[in-house]
Amino acid sequence: MISFSLPYWYDLHAHFRQGTVMADYIQAHINMACAGILAMPNTKPPVSRVTGSAADEYWTIESYLKDLRASGGHVFSDIIVPLYLTQDTTPDMIRAGTQSGYLRAAKYYPPHGTTNSDHGFPLRHFMENGVFSAMEETGVVLCLHGEEHGLTGSDYFDQDTNAEDVFYTRHMPVLVQKFPKLKIVCEHITTRTAVDFVSAQGDNVCATVTPQHLLYTAGHLLQGFKYHLYCLPLVKFNADRAALRDAVTSPTNTRFFAGTDSAPHAVKATACGCAAGCFTGNIAPQLYAQAFEDSGVDLATKNGQTLFQRFLCDNGPRFYGLKVPDKRFTLKKTPSPVHILTTREGTDITPLPLGMGQDTLPWTLER
Ligand SMILES: [Zn+2]
Repeated sequence: MISFSLPYWYDLHAHFRQGTVMADYIQAHINMACAGILAMPNTKPPVSRVTGSAADEYWTIESYLKDLRASGGHVFSDIIVPLYLTQDTTPDMIRAGTQSGYLRAAKYYPPHGTTNSDHGFPLRHFMENGVFSAMEETGVVLCLHGEEHGLTGSDYFDQDTNAEDVFYTRHMPVLVQKFPKLKIVCEHITTRTAVDFVSAQGDNVCATVTPQHLLYTAGHLLQGFKYHLYCLPLVKFNADRAALRDAVTSPTNTRFFAGTDSAPHAVKATACGCAAGCFTGNIAPQLYAQAFEDSGVDLATKNGQTLFQRFLCDNGPRFYGLKVPDKRFTLKKTPSPVHILTTREGTDITPLPLGMGQDTLPWTLER
């Protein structure tokens, strides 16, 4: 039986929400051998201040971190909470935040682009008001949800264009030209356009890739409308998935790394739409391993295992300056079942493969 060990890894993009259920979502990340997490700030209310106590309109990074730790996150060797960039974010907030030690990253959401992104503000605003300058100067990482907002339906998703394509061709060249030293993570990229853009940049520009964008295409979403695969950015075409697979499995990959974008939704589809986000807590390394094999990587070989380790365990921590832990876990090529997560509030969260009709994973994780 194929079996290999890896250092504990960091999920550098995940959602843990707020309230008592946070503990269930954090436990799911502990179960999959995470050394640490980057916990997204699109909570209710958003994490839009750095220090002090939470208020009715916002969390602070300091207060949200305290909650994450109290909900079981104290076992992680590190937790990064990015600041949600809103209309109220100022260059002074970035400088003072860096001084405080709490501010290490900040998140750009396109206005109204995805779940709880109502506080997002256009990219141009932060290019002009000094916020990105302050981040470049202080080394605060910009986490980017790279999709253009406010497009018509036919520009939003079509054969030769989509919201991510538009964002990476219209805005990103300007951004990197104006702020050449800004550290940027292009999050959950889905297109050949984004892969090509990131590949053409220097070491200060990296990208995260989710399991779902490596495994599936728009056809999987549409065949039987599998709404558990509905996430933003949307899964794309074969050529896009092939570009993502090439990037993450390349022998020269140093800048593409794991960030699951795992997002729990107790209610996915409603009468007026569908919540965006796939839940991959408990099982992300197994899904990534499945995706590497689908990409033609032989995980029975040392070479294949090295490529996988770079993507899952090495590249992300190096970029964020996190310690790769000594502690290790094992992946075994033996089937394991996928379970619904029932939270302490009694809600059920359906993990992605179950929503796709797959109730067994080809890999088992042991820690
Ligand atoms: Zn996300």
